[in-house]
Amino acid sequence: MSNRLVFAANWKMHHGPQAAREFMQRFLPQADPQAGAELWFFPPGPSLPAVVEAGQGRADVRAGAQNVHWAPKGAFTGEVSVAIVRDAGARGALVGHSERRHVFGETDAETRQKVAALHEGGLIPFLCVGEKLEEREAGDTEAVVIRQLRAALDDVPARRLHETVIAYEPVWAIGTGRTASPADAAAVHQVIREELGRLGATSRIPILYGGSVNAGNAAQLLGESEINGVLVGGASLDADGWAGIVGMADQFS
Ligand code: PEP
Repeated sequence: MSNRLVFAANWKMHHGPQAAREFMQRFLPQADPQAGAELWFFPPGPSLPAVVEAGQGRADVRAGAQNVHWAPKGAFTGEVSVAIVRDAGARGALVGHSERRHVFGETDAETRQKVAALHEGGLIPFLCVGEKLEEREAGDTEAVVIRQLRAALDDVPARRLHETVIAYEPVWAIGTGRTASPADAAAVHQVIREELGRLGATSRIPILYGGSVNAGNAAQLLGESEINGVLVGGASLDADGWAGIVGMADQFS
């Protein structure tokens, strides 16, 4: 297993700067640093500086962007570049989240360009992959995640591949209250691990699970050696609740 344990909070379109400050003020005293645990926050862009500022002095606390454009600059109203989010304190960004893919139509080709731009800019892509319900029911889960991984990563040199985090997020489990069983999730993580090896990874890239993770199921999921952390939406919005989930790290490090 990866010796890193990654807890990633995807706040989606919640918590503006003031709410983000209040969250961090309440959360941080309840979440002491734990060996190997990385606490990543993906707030809405305008809240990034609040999270970055609150996390100063905490090496384990990191902020990331929910999305970036691959171009370095230009006439792209509404978009932000890697350099802009880096300047705001981001150290990584989500790429290919299912809401980007299936609500906003982000393609495999775009995820590839975003991953490349993030690596080029020294930021860590959190590449999200996962199948839709009909794809799972058709037995296509492995094919879908392998396609998504190859599309985004197949020309990434090994030294950069290691500066990547993968999140397996079955689309049918995101925000639905349905979670993959720990064994089912671990089986897909194994497929992802093997594919990363074929793509040239020589060390353990963290593979997170995401999809309706909460205080009641996190420990079971993290108990699978193939699951190196969690990417969490809804259950990361409450400071006390998120501190409780993050506090499980000492059981697994
Ligand atoms: C997510 O946004 O990546 C996610 C997994 O959301 P939720 O935890 O709410 O299902």
